[in-house]
Amino acid sequence: MKRCPACGEVKPREEFSKAGYCHPCNNRKGREYSKANREICNAARRRRRQANPGKARAEDKRARELKRTRDPQAFYAKQYERTKRWRARHPEKVREILQRSYDRNRSPFGYELRQAMRLLEKLRKEIANAKEQDRGSSQPVV
Ligand SMILES: [Zn+2]
Repeated sequence: MKRCPACGEVKPREEFSKAGYCHPCNNRKGREYSKANREICNAARRRRRQANPGKARAEDKRARELKRTRDPQAFYAKQYERTKRWRARHPEKVREILQRSYDRNRSPFGYELRQAMRLLEKLRKEIANAKEQDRGSSQPVV
């Protein structure tokens, strides 16, 4: 058992951090420190992330996932707002994207052409199969 110098409570040794405080006190002190030393902590965080971009990405992903599962409605609402803002800021890109999908789907003969290509591909396969079967059956007979 050990006594925490911050809160004065006596707790088992495994409930203490390396710094010598109990976990709740250590967490609180950490929060207080980073609040009081914003610039230092932000810079340190930036350095850590720059040194290990893979880990930073993984952390971001985990944080996003947590937000999404904790409050999906808020998460998707925010995402929607972000998309709306992006669209307002990039009207030319929105037009380009819409135009591209329009061209893909509605170009003259686009649909008919795709249908014809599909039919052609199907026939080509059928012919190849028929030839394959022909070759197989014509050899052993005679
Ligand atoms: Zn404590």
